[in-house]
Amino acid sequence: MAVCRTYGDDEMNIAVVGAGIAGLAVAVGLDQAGHHVTVYEAADKVGGRMSSVDLGDYSIDNGFHVLHTAYPTVKRWIDLEKLDAKPMDPCTVSIDPISGRKRIMGDALKAPRYLFSTLKAVGIRDGMRFLKWRTQTSSKDLERSLDSASPDIAMGLEQRRFRPSTQRVLKPLFTGITLDPSLSERFSFADFTWGAMAHGRMVVPRKGIAAVPQQLAGRLTQATINLDTKVDSVSQHHVFVNGEQVEFERVILATPQHITEELLSGYANPHDPIERLTSTVVFSSPAPPFRQARLLLNERWGEDGRKVLHIHTPTNLHPSPGGQHFVVATLVGADAMDPSPQQVQQELKSWFGAQVNNWNHVLTTKVRHALPHIDPSHHARALPELEFDGVYVVGDHRAHPSVQGALSSAERLLKHFETPFPQR
Ligand SMILES: Cc1cc2nc3c(=O)[nH]c(=O)nc-3n(C[C@H](O)[C@H](O)[C@H](O)COP(=O)(O)OP(=O)(O)OC[C@H]3O[C@@H](n4cnc5c(N)ncnc54)[C@H](O)[C@@H]3O)c2cc1C
Repeated sequence: MAVCRTYGDDEMNIAVVGAGIAGLAVAVGLDQAGHHVTVYEAADKVGGRMSSVDLGDYSIDNGFHVLHTAYPTVKRWIDLEKLDAKPMDPCTVSIDPISGRKRIMGDALKAPRYLFSTLKAVGIRDGMRFLKWRTQTSSKDLERSLDSASPDIAMGLEQRRFRPSTQRVLKPLFTGITLDPSLSERFSFADFTWGAMAHGRMVVPRKGIAAVPQQLAGRLTQATINLDTKVDSVSQHHVFVNGEQVEFERVILATPQHITEELLSGYANPHDPIERLTSTVVFSSPAPPFRQARLLLNERWGEDGRKVLHIHTPTNLHPSPGGQHFVVATLVGADAMDPSPQQVQQELKSWFGAQVNNWNHVLTTKVRHALPHIDPSHHARALPELEFDGVYVVGDHRAHPSVQGALSSAERLLKHFETPFPQR
């Protein structure tokens, strides 16, 4: 058995299993407070689900991923300026591939230029419903809605009585946010994301979303990060790895929901989570199909075999140094299991016409277990338990499926350890 040295009263010898954003935040906090931190990460790089694919002179994210500047934790932990993070257009555009009609909906309080197009897109009544929804969100306490019971998103959208044509935009929007075609996430989470969109910007770093966890990892001073090191199991004072049992004073598990359930026998999940699966099919094109940094939602997604949920063009936001243009199509659920680039390209011809013939398939990404599934009957911004059989647990599955959820779970643990949040 390998035994790690123990230290003085103030310094503990701590293992963090998993170097996603939650594990890294905990590691940075404990490291800067003087503890001796050893991070174990199964992958060959840090970042977990915030990952990007390096194409040489450009990085494409592993799934459409933005950072919300309204997240309180992002303000505390991430230096967006250093990441050269740029905002997407504060609007959503949808397309009906049958008629070719596009609709532009934006937050007119934030960007008055979208008032007319939004009213034209959804009508005055739904425009007023959007406004009411916005005024119910709180910029001071974005997560407030999560403290109350709510139906699931599918039911919540029905209850808000949006017109069917507005639902054709909201359903793919929230499917894209929750990566859940059944819209079974709590409606209070939809409220939270609606508030995040209303009270901040959606930004993407120049080098892709992976630059965010990399920035955190760069703040570690003394900690050891073991990459390519898959932990087999954990207990209150031990990590079992590479056939060895290593001893620690504290063990923190920062793995995704499904792995946490495997590694911790005492971790009882009261419900059966739904796996959330997403793929992107990435094409290079001689010219972008549109010029703005926007998400284009498919109003007919799921009808007559239409599988593309939305597309975006990352090079409209951060141009590639080589002048290439990338078009990224997102699929979710069963459609994302093994998408055919040819079929996706064929489908997108009904969106953009013959120009699609000139696109070349560059890569396909797939993320399994992309987001956790929190018990829909749960109503609080975090699940109550911090530890299971003496092992501390952090990650988005302890709060809600977002970067804010992951970082707030890390902050909760640091508070429990009476460790100040590090200065960024
Ligand atoms: C495609 C996609 C798009 C998203 N878009 C958004 C968005 O726009 N806005 C938003 O707020 N959130 C978004 N999210 C959610 C957000 O990325 C996650 O909530 C957050 O990254 C979760 O961080 P985490 O640290 O809890 O878990 P993870 O990032 O999953 O980190 C866990 C780490 O544990 C490691 N690990 C697993 N098993 C072991 C083992 N046995 N031993 C050692 N290490 C192990 C993993 O390799 C991983 O690095 C998106 C997620 C995905 C997948």
